[in-house]
Amino acid sequence: MKAFQCRMCGDCCYGEGGLYLEQREIDDIARFLEMTPDSFLSRYCEEKHGRYQLKTGHDRFCVFFHKEKRCLIHPVKPKLCILWPFSPAIVSDKENWEMAKDACPGINLGCTFEEFVRQSKE
Ligand code: SF4
Ligand code: SF4
Repeated sequence: MKAFQCRMCGDCCYGEGGLYLEQREIDDIARFLEMTPDSFLSRYCEEKHGRYQLKTGHDRFCVFFHKEKRCLIHPVKPKLCILWPFSPAIVSDKENWEMAKDACPGINLGCTFEEFVRQSKE
């Protein structure tokens, strides 16, 4: 039984905050977009508490979310997007996993937390 299977709903690309970028990710995304890191930061990111996170659009989806193509920076998307929903905060905390089940319809409700954690390591 699969603990997770993406439904391609896009819900995880919705909402503000939390998607902080590491310097390496800033450099990789900027290179992918053929921009300088500074231009990328000023156009697509906002600074919070001394760190940069991706902006959201008027629809509150990530600025790189596209209804048909999905993630416009897929080859270089941030580590947290690649890991989701097997992110460290979720695999290390059952309560966070319970909340993630409400946020992500791809998480199998019939699976136990222990099985979810086990499959995160595969
Ligand atoms: S919320 Fe879950 S099921 Fe929906 S696109 Fe994101 S990972 Fe896939
Ligand atoms: S970078 Fe891509 S996968 Fe991550 S939130 Fe934005 S659109 Fe979604």
